Amino acid sequence: MLVYADNAATTALSDVAKKALFDTTERVWGNPSSLHTVGQEAKTVLEGAREKIAALLGADPKEIYFTSGGSEADNQAIVSAARNGAKRGKKHIVSTKFEHHAVLHTLDRLAKDGFEVTLVDVHENGVVRPEEIAAAIRPDTCLVSVMYANNEIGTIQPIREIGAICREKKVPFHCDAVQAVGHIPVNVTDDNIDMLSLSAHKFHGPKGIGVLYAKRGILLSNIIDGGAQERGKRAGTENIPSIVSMAAALEESCAHMEENAKKIAHLRDRLIEGLSKIPHSRLNGDREKRVPGTVNFCFEGIEGESLLLMLDMNGIEASSGSACTSGSLDPSHVLLAIGLPHEIAHGSLRLSLSEYNTDEDVDHILATVPGIVTYLRNMSPVWENLETGKQPHLI
Ligand SMILES: *Cc1c(COP(=O)(O)O)cnc(C)c1O
Repeated sequence: MLVYADNAATTALSDVAKKALFDTTERVWGNPSSLHTVGQEAKTVLEGAREKIAALLGADPKEIYFTSGGSEADNQAIVSAARNGAKRGKKHIVSTKFEHHAVLHTLDRLAKDGFEVTLVDVHENGVVRPEEIAAAIRPDTCLVSVMYANNEIGTIQPIREIGAICREKKVPFHCDAVQAVGHIPVNVTDDNIDMLSLSAHKFHGPKGIGVLYAKRGILLSNIIDGGAQERGKRAGTENIPSIVSMAAALEESCAHMEENAKKIAHLRDRLIEGLSKIPHSRLNGDREKRVPGTVNFCFEGIEGESLLLMLDMNGIEASSGSACTSGSLDPSHVLLAIGLPHEIAHGSLRLSLSEYNTDEDVDHILATVPGIVTYLRNMSPVWENLETGKQPHLI
């Protein structure tokens, strides 16, 4: 049996997205910047996809910019706000401790260039408090950037409230909504968002394609210079098959959002209930304020990496957290941000589900994980120290 439970890292292409990708690749090969018929046909298809995506987000088509994915959209949003701010002497940015590295590393680079960055706490439940964002905003703040849902622990942030605070204080607000779009309702107008990043491969679309939404009046800076594509803000001939496929995947995800969320949350809740029975384990992040599919647990006394390898041998594909940090020995910055000590953060397991998962998948996970945890603990000198009382249990 093979159980794919790593949908926060990437999702399988849906049939609808696959068909759109292949059909468009076959039919539409013109360059939308060309003035001849083949080019203009491509342009029509491109703009149709833009309109579809805009409508699904509550945006205007002129506010949608196609990028190579979530990382590029995050980079461009943040760099744009920083450049706009610097022109007016505003060089302070507010974000949070548990953002995706596409945000945090961009902020690191800006900090080296003389910007000051305040990273607000996310507390033990993995939820930012809007009043703490408000308190961090200063007269020289040029951007607030807070993610919609965290990619490692799945907690949902009070985006609408944070957006309202930013509107009131007249500070641009960027939201990395890569883990939210297609999974929970996101509407840039209702949610008071000025800039938003999304990525197709997190909702059964293709990899290497995403969107930066920028509200009318927000001046974007180019990260990629060249031709005048995307209203002059993102050079490079558009990847029309991927864009059309992304629009199809988003349309499908939004059309079935409620039923999918219900189904996935049922599976997630079974996982939480089952894994909580393992002694000295803990669910990371708020129990209620979470996306339907993501579960993150820590098991004391084991290494997450060993657990992952043994799960893989048993046909379960999971993650210790972010795919971007796997391979590095540092514990997850997200788990440290919610206050876990290093030795606990090392023993983490992220299971992220999609509507393609089944009750049988959950049965298999619940029949497999406890035995592996016991096996690894029995081999662990750390566990022996905990059990003999030489060291106190932390969970
Ligand atoms: C996956 C992810 C990204 C990066 O998106 P890519 O399209 O892979 O570049 C950014 N932010 C979050 C929260 C993500 O989960």
